[in-house]
Amino acid sequence: RSYLDAIKAKNGDLNAYITVTEEQALAQAKAADEQRAAGNAGPLTGIPIAHKDIFCTRGVRTSCGSKMLDNFVAPYESTVTERLAEAGTVMLGKTNLDEFAMGSSTESSFYGPTRNPWNTETIPGGSSGGSAVAVSAGLAAAATGTDTGGSIRQPAALCGITGLKPTYGRVSRWGMIAFGSSLDCGGPMTRTAEDAALMLNAFAGFDPKDSTSMERDVDDYSARLNQPLKGLRIGLPKEYFGDGLDDGIRAAVNDAVKTLESLGAVVKDISLPRTELSIPAYYIIAPAEASTNLSRYDGVRYGYRCENPTDLQDMYMRTRAEGFGAEVKRRIMVGTYALSAGYYDAYYNKAQQLRRLIRDDFQTAFDEVDVILGPTTPSPAWKIGEKANDPVSMYLEDIYTLSTNLAGLPGLSLPCGQVGGLPVGMQVIGNYFDESLLLNIGHQFQ
Ligand code: GLN
Repeated sequence: RSYLDAIKAKNGDLNAYITVTEEQALAQAKAADEQRAAGNAGPLTGIPIAHKDIFCTRGVRTSCGSKMLDNFVAPYESTVTERLAEAGTVMLGKTNLDEFAMGSSTESSFYGPTRNPWNTETIPGGSSGGSAVAVSAGLAAAATGTDTGGSIRQPAALCGITGLKPTYGRVSRWGMIAFGSSLDCGGPMTRTAEDAALMLNAFAGFDPKDSTSMERDVDDYSARLNQPLKGLRIGLPKEYFGDGLDDGIRAAVNDAVKTLESLGAVVKDISLPRTELSIPAYYIIAPAEASTNLSRYDGVRYGYRCENPTDLQDMYMRTRAEGFGAEVKRRIMVGTYALSAGYYDAYYNKAQQLRRLIRDDFQTAFDEVDVILGPTTPSPAWKIGEKANDPVSMYLEDIYTLSTNLAGLPGLSLPCGQVGGLPVGMQVIGNYFDESLLLNIGHQFQ
């Protein structure tokens, strides 16, 4: 009730939630109370959480921030939300996001922009901005997010919370609305690394319903939180500290590095030479995959359909023209172009080659260091509207997060200070399946 009251008081200003499921939440909370009374409570029993509105939830609208799915009630439940429900969590509602998770500011949602609680004139980051704000403003104890190119880590950084993008394949994509299927990854958004571990414990692991889910044992992510960091080798890539990085963020991250050194970590300068190429590679591959994934929204099967179509062609065209917003249309056009005959080799294949080189850079670095550390974002939260009509300047904000997704690696964003009253984050990138190590570092740092 306390969280529902906070939502009532603040959601009008912040627009963190698209849908609040009050009645169900109270019923789930009651069931959790009973479980607790019966002595059957687990660590998440009764914990009120929010889900990004990209996870299908049976019987509750799943909009993905789009007019296209404004009327869509999924007949099935995503694996992530199902496992969290089985762990006893209470769902408060579904949070706002950039339309189909395409963006870095939560401004492209059909339901209007979400505001950063630290300064309501600024964006909260995106695309999981609603989840970041819900946790940051005390409108949920924890939340789920998804990260295709930074959408968990970047809003976590800009809202002063903790966000973990796990290794690709560690968390099931079943029931998570597809954007870039080779990049998409669900993960926790929480106040602390300790909370992130509890959340991940509940939903990580193999799922036969997702063909890219890894059949591999899951760690107990809480087990290692208290291990000392003595001897930990941290790599600082020079490309993450170059031109374009805000001076205040640079100073905050350098201070954080000193703290980690005082805890016994050893720091080494490294290079990830292909970092800059992650932007062009990602902004071909992600739109290419999006253009095929979004071909299913045609007005025939589910979702929005235009009124009074004259024939099938008219229905397809008007449904998609009216149902999608500008950024989604831009991605579909770029992706379709990059995949078309004659251009495929020049764009899509080249981007895939870059992707492999970017992955190789990381593997070379991991021969020398255990983790890689840098800022999560080049700048703190910007003003709402400032970059809304300049997609390329928005894409450039993703410089430190995209390569992790292209390589499939895990990344953890941790709050590490403030610039001008706005929070900033640092990112710790690990090798494949090193989530426990990242959470260990996060917990020791916090
Ligand atoms: N900002 C990136 C994009 O617009 C990443 C979004 C995401 O991770 N979903 O594609």
